[in-house]
Amino acid sequence: MSETAPSRAAGLLHLRRDGLSKGDSIPLPLTMASTFHAPGDSTGFHQYGRFSNPTWDGTEEMLSYLENAPALAFPSGMAAISAAFFALLKTGDRILLPTDGYHTTRILADRFLRAFGVHFDTRPTASFLDGGFDGYRLVFVESPSNPMLDICDIAAAAEAIHKAGGLLIVDNTTMTPFGQRPLDLGADIVVAADTKAPNGHSDVLAGHVASRNADVMAAVKEWRTTSGSIPSPFDAWLLHRGLETLDVRFDRMCTSAELIAPRIKAHPAVKALRFPGLIGDPSHNLASTQMERFGFLISFVLGSEDEAENFINGCELMAAATSFGGVHTSAERRTKRGDAVPPGFVRLAIGCEPAEDLWAAIKASLDRIAAA
Ligand SMILES: *Cc1c(COP(=O)(O)O)cnc(C)c1O
Repeated sequence: MSETAPSRAAGLLHLRRDGLSKGDSIPLPLTMASTFHAPGDSTGFHQYGRFSNPTWDGTEEMLSYLENAPALAFPSGMAAISAAFFALLKTGDRILLPTDGYHTTRILADRFLRAFGVHFDTRPTASFLDGGFDGYRLVFVESPSNPMLDICDIAAAAEAIHKAGGLLIVDNTTMTPFGQRPLDLGADIVVAADTKAPNGHSDVLAGHVASRNADVMAAVKEWRTTSGSIPSPFDAWLLHRGLETLDVRFDRMCTSAELIAPRIKAHPAVKALRFPGLIGDPSHNLASTQMERFGFLISFVLGSEDEAENFINGCELMAAATSFGGVHTSAERRTKRGDAVPPGFVRLAIGCEPAEDLWAAIKASLDRIAAA
């Protein structure tokens, strides 16, 4: 037997082992229940499906192991982000959001937080620390940002906001706990859309909040129980199943992205490309120090909106779809979603297809554009 502790990827697959009795199922059971047998005093066991569920427990045990912090599951990434905001903010608070992060987070602040007297400012991820964080209760970082893949120094942001007396939240959706460890870098709270790579099969929306701050987790849990923003047991079960293969899928996706990004960049149809793994990319140096992988998202610019559409729709191993992190490679022309990017801007999410097959399909589609 080896004396060294197993890696997170290895240990993750055997988390249920110690709790098993003879005859128990090796996979996590799915418990579809709104009510549980609850005679007598009502503490210390499952009673009602809005409070707790044994399938959530199994999924949260995995999320918590991956984050090395207590974690709570939510029915979507936005539900997790909303929980962190509504549990922690009060009238008069000021928060800072990225201009180039997931747009729905800004809409949430604009349409709902503002009405409760929570003010928000925005800054580009690439210059997020400029100006300092004085006066902010919460600073929200998304790194790499979506879809431009700019990066912000998470450890420096944590130090600066702690000096100012506030908390740092990191949306770690694009990287997953296998690609970046925001809590280890000093962040107070991680939020993520497990809809993406953690579930990985494009069939569930899910999210989680993780933090080593017990007060934060107590408030977030109370928010979940009270607001009813709970995952269905079946969705939690599917996420649990997805998490079992996250390491294998994420590794394949990141390795393929590293192989394919420089080849796309060198293609004559491509005007500009961003991938943190490329030497010379504005994100590369910081990415090399704070990320464990460079991710599986690649952004690049083709000559026009039509070229972007033709490239995506003409590639036989590519789904034309929003979102990312599924087993299938997918891509989207981002002006469709209102991002402030050039008309031919494509966000490509590398999937699990064998890399050389995928590259051959991408190259064929780019060649057709260059020849048109
Ligand atoms: C998708 C996404 C979200 C929202 O997740 P949903 O599950 O769609 O609610 C939040 N942040 C980032 C970075 C995302 O990519």
